[in-house]
Amino acid sequence: MADSTVVSNTENLMKYMSLDQRGRSMAEYIWIDSQGGTRSKTKTLSKPVTSVDQLPEWNFDGSSTAQAPGDNSDVYLRPVAIFPDPFRQGDNILVLCETWDADGSPNKFNFRHDAARLMETNAKEEFWFGLEQEYTLLGTDGWPYGWPRGGFPGAQGPYYCGVGTGRVYCRDIVEAHYRACLYANINISGINAEVMPSQWEYQVGPCPGIDMGDHLWMSRYILHRVAEEFGVRISFEPKPIKGEWNGAGLHSNVSTAATRAEGGMKAIEAAMKKFEARHVEHIAVYGEGNEERLTGRHETGNIDKFSYGVADRGGSIRIPRQVAKDGKGYFEDRRPASNADPYQITGIIVETMCGGL
Ligand code: ADP
Ligand code: MN
Ligand code: MN
Ligand code: MN
Ligand code: MN
Repeated sequence: MADSTVVSNTENLMKYMSLDQRGRSMAEYIWIDSQGGTRSKTKTLSKPVTSVDQLPEWNFDGSSTAQAPGDNSDVYLRPVAIFPDPFRQGDNILVLCETWDADGSPNKFNFRHDAARLMETNAKEEFWFGLEQEYTLLGTDGWPYGWPRGGFPGAQGPYYCGVGTGRVYCRDIVEAHYRACLYANINISGINAEVMPSQWEYQVGPCPGIDMGDHLWMSRYILHRVAEEFGVRISFEPKPIKGEWNGAGLHSNVSTAATRAEGGMKAIEAAMKKFEARHVEHIAVYGEGNEERLTGRHETGNIDKFSYGVADRGGSIRIPRQVAKDGKGYFEDRRPASNADPYQITGIIVETMCGGL
């Protein structure tokens, strides 16, 4: 257990968690803040709710999260998706919200609004996305969990999908998160230990349209909550440790009705031309600090140059071998960093392939 942290006493807590709620339920309203993190607060509901339109709007003090000025600080929370709450369980729910300003416009950090409009405008294309979320576990001192204090473990090699003591770190947190996501109806499709020790990945998808961002944000929230109980910090930094250590990405897999249909490779090839023309625009929303990661080394493409190829893990976009063989399917945009916003990623992909609003 990490030191210098007050860690919750789960055993004591359990006695209270089984107390009757007397017909009322708790809704955890969750929103995305100005730093790409999540915030949340709880509302008591007089009875359980089963759909998002049964939930009231709410608000928070945006001056405390750098989302609004102090003299006009109310930011509104509009529920957009609900999930069963794996922490409180029962009828309690997690509520994902969009943030709206008092003048009726989307908050500056509400990237969902435009993405949702793009998804709706292009609904007939039937976009599916699958995101591979990489992240790093840190001790409270900010150094990767389980690494020698101020020092380094042995060179990369044994850790990717590793098994056994000294080869894999924090499997307990990863297992707890996986189970909590399944409980919450997150479309989580798998997990694996990554190349750098104490770095992990989970995949969410395929998800249609706006669901991708909703499910990924909720999975991130759950990850932070789970790690809290273990006294471990979650980092979505794209290059947490400089040097010969892999960075962390958010590979974004994409398909449409056309790419999945017979002869879909034609649609994929046509898309590559469009992606090439807008490389700079994509990089601009693919995460902060991504230039430290996209070096053309450690299984990445170069940030200054668009490239793609079959089975190429050193390019911007990879077409999986099996897809080339089948002549249809999906492609993988390998450029997004682990800290990128999934609404911005999926939004710009739709915009590039289909045109803007
Ligand atoms: P990698 O070999 O790049 O590590 P993963 O197995 O980690 O691949 O992730 C593959 C991702 O591709 C999964 O998240 C899955 O949801 C997604 N995916 C699979 N098929 C499709 C599809 N037709 N459209 C969009 N995404 C897809
Ligand atoms: Mn108050
Ligand atoms: Mn993967
Ligand atoms: Mn990976
Ligand atoms: Mn990948």
